[in-house]
Amino acid sequence: MAKLPLHTEFPSIQALREALQARRVSATEVAQSALDSIQSHAHLNAFLHVDADLSLAQARAADHAIASGADAPLAGIPIGHKDVFVTQGWRSTAASRMLQDYVSPFDATVVSRLLEAGAVSLGKLNCDEFAMGSGNETSIYGPVRNPWDHSAVPGGSSGGSAAAVAAGLLMAATGTDTGGSIRQPAALCGISGIKPTYGTVSRLGMIAYGSSLDQAGPIARHARDLLEVLEPMSGFDPLDSTSLEYCDTEANKPGRIRGRYNAAIAKQQKSGSRPLEGLRIGVPREFFDEALTPDVAQAVEKALQVFESLGAVRVEISLPRTELSIPAYYVIAPAEASSNLSRYDGVRFGHRTDSYTDLEDMTSRSRFEGFGPEVRRRVLAGTYVLCHGYYDAYYLQAQRVRRMIADDFRTAFAEHCDVIMGPVTPSVAKSIGDNREDPIADWLSDIYTLGVSLAGLPAMSVPCGFGVERPLPIGLQIIGNYFAEGELLAVADCYQQATDWHQRTPGQQ
Ligand code: GLN
Repeated sequence: MAKLPLHTEFPSIQALREALQARRVSATEVAQSALDSIQSHAHLNAFLHVDADLSLAQARAADHAIASGADAPLAGIPIGHKDVFVTQGWRSTAASRMLQDYVSPFDATVVSRLLEAGAVSLGKLNCDEFAMGSGNETSIYGPVRNPWDHSAVPGGSSGGSAAAVAAGLLMAATGTDTGGSIRQPAALCGISGIKPTYGTVSRLGMIAYGSSLDQAGPIARHARDLLEVLEPMSGFDPLDSTSLEYCDTEANKPGRIRGRYNAAIAKQQKSGSRPLEGLRIGVPREFFDEALTPDVAQAVEKALQVFESLGAVRVEISLPRTELSIPAYYVIAPAEASSNLSRYDGVRFGHRTDSYTDLEDMTSRSRFEGFGPEVRRRVLAGTYVLCHGYYDAYYLQAQRVRRMIADDFRTAFAEHCDVIMGPVTPSVAKSIGDNREDPIADWLSDIYTLGVSLAGLPAMSVPCGFGVERPLPIGLQIIGNYFAEGELLAVADCYQQATDWHQRTPGQQ
């Protein structure tokens, strides 16, 4: 019988797969014990919808797949989905009153691809309402608690995903990142997460926030597990108009992430004791600003020293528009949100008010009752910047800045470095409620993640230390060029072979 937390017995997806294939444990046993554990960790508030019958049916199917030798790389691996992925069976609410009773007639592509790979879903995970937030505090189901310190936020918006993986309830979880929502909660919960190149993972069935930014990715304990989940999640989807054929830019032909990862690992192995010999790490001056707390700066510095000892060289670079990423993002994302969320009118989708006088009154009351304060703030701001007369001044201007931010990254990769590293967040996790009076404080904490999202680049977070005053996890951000997720994961893997931050668990530092 599998003991929990899962990773104490199975340190990787590979290890659990071997145990399942050798029949030392069955997928049904793993799922049952994870379901029990989810119940005993209800205080984390990480799960919104659990349905034991549905999960156990998937687990039995995985046991059959294993017995018949089917090609199902994730057969029996327990995962969970952020509640912005629509699912058949489980409700899909985006943690909003607007969609409180919504059950989708189809599965998101990400969900169906992971199911085809044999993964067993244990339910839907709490998140910020419509993925808008940085602390998982805007969910109508209440905040998620950080498993390292129950008074702290887990980070947002994929907070339930990060908390569930950190607590060992799941081997991996899906998340979405519009401006940092995979990297940031992964950092604050002491686990790993990757936001892939925009377009490489289908958005079909992902409840939309900012469509030109939204991108799904996995959250797991370490880089190897991320690869296991990202590989089957990604790939062209003809039903998503912004989906891309994954391109091996080295070979200039379609390829797979695993191919690039394997090539990078083979290169590392040839280099012996200095596996990252020659890797140029760009360190942006602007990421070490006055917002950065000393303990995060110190942990990141120590991580960079580890990379140097592995053969990498550090190059100071500049991303001069970093500061402008906040106003640019907080114009573009709300603008897209105001358009995406216009479909929730009480007629086609979502909550409808009980009492109203006419159609207009019904729509406005339904939206007022259905959306929480942060979502309303975004819809108002987004509608404002798209108004005739303000469009040029705000929206168009923000799009120009977005292009300049992408150009800054392009120059860095073309002329100076292979990867970029820095902090994910300015500080360790804040206490639940800290930013309640000041929503802008949350927006400012996104400073190191937004530029990557605006540029559509891949980036990840790996654990690299703990805070001094508050011994909570700190993440290192590793940013790559377009389609470089294979290399990114290989670089992160190399770091995780040399350090053990990713193996530490809450309560046992
Ligand atoms: N904190 C950012 C926001 O609220 C990013 C959220 C996200 O990536 N989904 O928009």
